[in-house]
Amino acid sequence: MLLTVIMIMHENKLFELARDMKSLVPQIFLDYDGTLVPIIKDPEVNQADKELIGLLTSFASVYETYIVTGRDLGEITNFIGEYNIIGLHGAMFHINGETITIPGFQKYEEISMKLYMENYGMINKFKGLRIYRKSGGVLFHTGNIQDKCTARSVMETVKSLALQYNMEMHTGIDIIELRIPGVNKGRAIKMVRNVNRQAIIMGDDATDEDAFKMNPDAITVKIGDEITNARYSISYSSVRPFLLALLR
Ligand SMILES: [Mg+2]
Repeated sequence: MLLTVIMIMHENKLFELARDMKSLVPQIFLDYDGTLVPIIKDPEVNQADKELIGLLTSFASVYETYIVTGRDLGEITNFIGEYNIIGLHGAMFHINGETITIPGFQKYEEISMKLYMENYGMINKFKGLRIYRKSGGVLFHTGNIQDKCTARSVMETVKSLALQYNMEMHTGIDIIELRIPGVNKGRAIKMVRNVNRQAIIMGDDATDEDAFKMNPDAITVKIGDEITNARYSISYSSVRPFLLALLR
């Protein structure tokens, strides 16, 4: 109850702030899953709805806007179309139609492929587990694992794979990911930000906390009521109204 009250206070403050922010023409950094679309158990079909496409189009015409996601470029552009994207948690940038990757990306693409091929059989051992290859990472989706013991075993196995393949392990809502070491959303956003320009950064998951921590001067907004490094928290249902307030 107390958390809900605090959150509503936060939301009100944030909506007031939206009015003042407009004149500063901030850069906007938006996470996708859990921020712009709900988290679903089948992440491969998390298509943007018509309203969201419209909202993003309007946004891009007013603000310098980036979708900052763990997904790879192909996947996210399938969902939302051509847009400025910071993909794979910051290993890949697609800005004004041009795509660049971080140095050493190719090596990690090869490692990820090997990791995926050599361990895909895990889906037969752990009921409900799904494994996705990304360019430069492997994602273990645990949302359909019913048994707690199985979930724990998956976690232990992925932990040892991280050491074996020299990848960095990250956990989020229903996912465990092996990623390129040293890459995170916070660093990526810092690279794209203009000095002395205001920014709004929104996200719902552990990976967004890096973005909040590393950009303490920005208007950082956590989606959900968990403890966060962001300056504001709002509920998922308030995200689109807030974005609309920035357009009005
Ligand atoms: Mg998210």
